[in-house]
Amino acid sequence: MYVTMKPLLDHAATNHYAVMAANVLNMEMARAVISAADEKQAPLIIIIGSMAMAKHSAAELMAPLIRRLAAQTTAPIALCLDHGKDIHKVAYALHNGFNSIMLDGSQYEMGENMEKTRQIVELCHPLHISVEGEIGHVGQAASLDGRDASLYTKPEDAAYFAKATGVDCLAVAIGTAHGKYPEGFVPHINLELLREIKEATNQMPIALHGGSGSGDENIIAAVEAGINKINLATDLQEAAKKGAGEAFQKGADYIKTLQEAELACKNLLMHWMELSGSCNRAKDIPVPWRFSDLQGDYKNHSIEE
Ligand SMILES: [Zn+2]
Repeated sequence: MYVTMKPLLDHAATNHYAVMAANVLNMEMARAVISAADEKQAPLIIIIGSMAMAKHSAAELMAPLIRRLAAQTTAPIALCLDHGKDIHKVAYALHNGFNSIMLDGSQYEMGENMEKTRQIVELCHPLHISVEGEIGHVGQAASLDGRDASLYTKPEDAAYFAKATGVDCLAVAIGTAHGKYPEGFVPHINLELLREIKEATNQMPIALHGGSGSGDENIIAAVEAGINKINLATDLQEAAKKGAGEAFQKGADYIKTLQEAELACKNLLMHWMELSGSCNRAKDIPVPWRFSDLQGDYKNHSIEE
């Protein structure tokens, strides 16, 4: 079932668990993560970043594929542009049928970030498109940005930003970072800060970016402390690479190699769904409407859902 992000995140925030936000780059990864959601009956957000779209995973190819697959499961599936930097990237995703947007204005100072995010909310909400903003800045794992407390989200900024922009979900910087950490490094997630942000924002849905490599115990603790969306990219890509690599080494043909990559992704995401507490939640999530019912004149596709 293809739905926007908001009902999934609201249910997660009310019931103290997190929805996995899985990055996919191709058909195999899309099938892997939707199959995991179906098997675990877990809500799922699929995320694709602007850079990946430009390099490989074009929105006009990925969105119809994902919508078709989502229509085949009772698990609710949302599709979100990840780290959209400007209105052009947002328009490209929306035009191709994405139903959720993450607007990342975290490279700007607070006032400008707020203004840019508010404009996207104004554009998206009448179309029933959910919006996530970012306050503080989640940097890169390789440069150990997660340890730089000056980038962390301040609870009072989070509260002000959320209110002024009207976002449905807030990405915060509390110790994780994007990409691959140096060998042996495990991030410290500032749970106390997370609890303060939850308190300040009236328990609104909070997203953790840079989930990969954080360690199972850290993730469980972060969910307990109030995380409701966990972005996972690097670990899924690594799993696919490993699955394909091992099959290739054993002399598998191309189809078998792709299938092993898909299976490795699916198995990894099912593990994260267990950590996030999202398994078997699908039936309890009130989804009052299907996304396709709400698009009206905006609907630009012909897939039956
Ligand atoms: Zn991110």
